[in-house]
Amino acid sequence: MEIKSIQTKSILIQSKLPDSDFVINPYIGCRYGCTYCYASFMGRFVEKKVKDWGNYIFIKENAPEILKKDLKKLKNKGKGKSILLSSVTDPYQGVEAKYKLTRKCIEILLDWGFEGTLGILTKSNLVLRDMDLLTLFKNAEVGLTVTSTDDDISKYFEKYAPPASQRLDTLKKLNAGRIKTYAFVGPLLPHFVAEKYKLDMLFKAIYETGTKDLYIEHINLSKYIIERLKRELPGLNKNIMEKFYISQDKNYRDKLDKIVVNLAKKYEFKIRLENAIYHKNENNR
Ligand code: SF4
Repeated sequence: MEIKSIQTKSILIQSKLPDSDFVINPYIGCRYGCTYCYASFMGRFVEKKVKDWGNYIFIKENAPEILKKDLKKLKNKGKGKSILLSSVTDPYQGVEAKYKLTRKCIEILLDWGFEGTLGILTKSNLVLRDMDLLTLFKNAEVGLTVTSTDDDISKYFEKYAPPASQRLDTLKKLNAGRIKTYAFVGPLLPHFVAEKYKLDMLFKAIYETGTKDLYIEHINLSKYIIERLKRELPGLNKNIMEKFYISQDKNYRDKLDKIVVNLAKKYEFKIRLENAIYHKNENNR
């Protein structure tokens, strides 16, 4: 595992994501090393390969200082704008306990009087450490990614991330602390069409945490992600791999969308962006 401190020139980056104006990524790389991670392409900026994803973290040591400068890009204290922490790394992965870059960036946004929406997206319970700061924002919300209720499945696809049960518990604690939350159900795992009761179990578990909003995302199977899946999951059952391929078909997506919409109604969830997000790539049909 390589951990290296680096200097960055900018940290508040304009985003192309549908629901965020800016993103802050205090780290390059992510120890959680999820097999389906689309951010594994990030290695190209630090001379790493997709296969190295999960085995390096570059610490943007001067991120808080640079954020102070970058905030000048925002007018009216950022009113009406949204910032996401983070889009291509987990802001609360293990190293954050030591380096506290995410916490420091949040402190800077607070001191500066940021009036937009601060969004956090993580798989880690370490976010609970920063509840004291998050409650001080006018608009802050925390999303936990949960793709299954089964800790074995989360360990399989999200090797070093905290187990699914801990993420659900984190949502519960955030809700109890009156912090706005959402669950990010992404990617939708390919077996959910055949075993929709498993998706029902997942929605029920999220509902029981008191969470009201969901983002849903279809799996992104760009070529580099397929190659990574094959490498990372060598014993993967052939039938399961075939389901991954099928999941790129429009009919499959339509079926899955229907299941999602019905379950969202059942548990009275609001689906953000109205529909499940999907990324068009060379393998989509
Ligand atoms: S936690 Fe997020 S950024 Fe980190 S490896 Fe998993 S999907 Fe990628």
